[in-house]
Amino acid sequence: MAKKQFKTESKKLLDMMINSIYTHKEIFLRELISNASDAIDKLYFRSLTDDSVGMGHDDFVIRLSIDKDNRILTITDNGIGMTKDELENNLGTIAHSGSLDFKSDEDKQDDNIDIIGQFGVGFYSAFMVADNIKVETRAFGSDEAYLWESSGVDGYTVKTCDKDAVGTVITLHIKPDTDDEKYGEFLETYRIRELVRKYSDYIRYPIKMLISTRKPVEGKEGEYEDVFEDETLNSMTPIWKKPQSKVSDEEYADYYKGKFNDYEAPLKVIRQSTEGNATYTALLFIPSHAPYDYYSRDYEKGLQLYSSSVMIMDKCKDLLPDHFSFVKGLVDSSDLSLNISREMLQHDRQLKIIAKALEKKIASELGKMLKNDRENYEKFFKEFGAQLKWGIYSAFGSNREELQDLLMFESSNDGKLTTLREYLDRAREGQDKIYYAVGETTEKIAMLPQVEAVIAKGYEVLYLTQDIDEFCVQILHNYDSKDFVNVCTDNLELGDDEEKAQLKEANDNSEELFKYMQEALEGKVAKVRYTNTLKNHAVCLSSEGAVSVGMEQILNKMPGTEGQNIKAETVLEINMDHPIKDKLLALFGSDKEKLGEYTKILYAQARLINGLSLENPAEISDLVCGLMI
Ligand code: ADP
Repeated sequence: MAKKQFKTESKKLLDMMINSIYTHKEIFLRELISNASDAIDKLYFRSLTDDSVGMGHDDFVIRLSIDKDNRILTITDNGIGMTKDELENNLGTIAHSGSLDFKSDEDKQDDNIDIIGQFGVGFYSAFMVADNIKVETRAFGSDEAYLWESSGVDGYTVKTCDKDAVGTVITLHIKPDTDDEKYGEFLETYRIRELVRKYSDYIRYPIKMLISTRKPVEGKEGEYEDVFEDETLNSMTPIWKKPQSKVSDEEYADYYKGKFNDYEAPLKVIRQSTEGNATYTALLFIPSHAPYDYYSRDYEKGLQLYSSSVMIMDKCKDLLPDHFSFVKGLVDSSDLSLNISREMLQHDRQLKIIAKALEKKIASELGKMLKNDRENYEKFFKEFGAQLKWGIYSAFGSNREELQDLLMFESSNDGKLTTLREYLDRAREGQDKIYYAVGETTEKIAMLPQVEAVIAKGYEVLYLTQDIDEFCVQILHNYDSKDFVNVCTDNLELGDDEEKAQLKEANDNSEELFKYMQEALEGKVAKVRYTNTLKNHAVCLSSEGAVSVGMEQILNKMPGTEGQNIKAETVLEINMDHPIKDKLLALFGSDKEKLGEYTKILYAQARLINGLSLENPAEISDLVCGLMI
């Protein structure tokens, strides 16, 4: 029979599996058992509404068996099975292949590990330990059974086979041992038992294996025989139903890694059990790092939802607010009906109460972490902080009470992350504003003339480097009654009354000059004026109104804003105490053409100082050259 080819990405993944140096090859068993359990879940769920299934909860079983002589390990389930199409679609490609950005062949082996960890490659992981895999399966409701078989990258075959019972049998031919790898360990009863306890203990269906023990022969003293007895290898108690004191951090971590396809232990485990308005147990995890697709549209938030230990939904999104969408985990409640539909759930009062309580719990746990475990909190914030900020922005600040004290920003205080409370605790006496500046990196922000000037006056400046930052503080507007102020806008009001009066007078006296300069810039700036906040630099750019220069850039990069050309009201500010001021005034009287050229050069300088590129580099270069010769 002609072999069918795996899809390209799957083939690459398979190749990686087969040649893998991944040290945790043992996880293949967890993956196969988990697939078996999911298949049983599906049939069991069906049985609740369909009498023709003819099976009850206690009839379901996952069975493991070992044939050491022939190096065979089988995993059998009586779950829902697969049709021919499903076989081809499910095992001929891998679920996540579309999002895999495969690296070139020269890439280091390390990448394998990342991919295995990040994507939880499921069924294919069996190729790490087996050189031939057979899958015999019969779908519920079908009279035909099929055999899928593959020895690796060169393809697979599918043909009909005999199989009476609904379900799936996976037969692995375990690879021969090599000097480095003793694959034979997966043919040892003790090892399989150990792996089931480690990774699959909580599976709600019995995982059984015939185990032989030497026993004395009855009535014949001194004689022994091998007796085969069925042993259930897993305790079947969901980890969240065990007393908290009985579960170690490592067990939680193993459970989390297996269930949520992560290679790193969670940063924090949150467990909550309540009775009263809503009776439920929640087991939540804050991951140590953002999943590869977290900041993309593909990411789906949600918690698993169980009703009395039976899973009824894999990703219940109504249980988590958007700003906590990174939380993984599950909720088990006896208040929910097994047959509740997605539509009904959305309006379920019980579910809303649970969601509210979980939100509060997560916020308070994060608050505790910030207080007691700063290092981990900062790690958390670097991964997911942008989501909290986005959450504030998208809810128009209505959740500020819950979230604002969880926020962190970089700042001129040694470039460390700071909370808003800490910022205010360090503030100068009488400081009634929270100063911030926006830029790509803290280094670039620190070099902004306005920032240098504000720091020189003894104030701390928050360095907003993430796209969402300024949107977030603008929605918040203030914190503890102190307004947020962008140091690159005009309302700094740093000087004393006398200085302010001087500035106003100077500006009033130069109105004509500024008008001319603004015209020379052909609409690029909304205004030209003096400032008294710059230390050494001759010029800088600032803005007026709701859209700052930083926001202008971000808004124009955002999808959907093409062609709108959102503009900040840019202001060219000239240092009132710099000799350039007199030069400009003199030129205004003597040589307007030259004044126009100088204005263009000054504007270009201001753009460069503010970290913006030049719109007309060739023209500016010619102008500067003109000054030199
Ligand atoms: P995942 O489990 O992450 O979806 P896998 O590669 O492990 O990815 O499995 C692919 C699909 O094959 C599963 O989603 C399921 O539909 C099907 N499958 C795998 N094993 C079984 C099984 N024992 N019984 C029924 N279907 C299965």
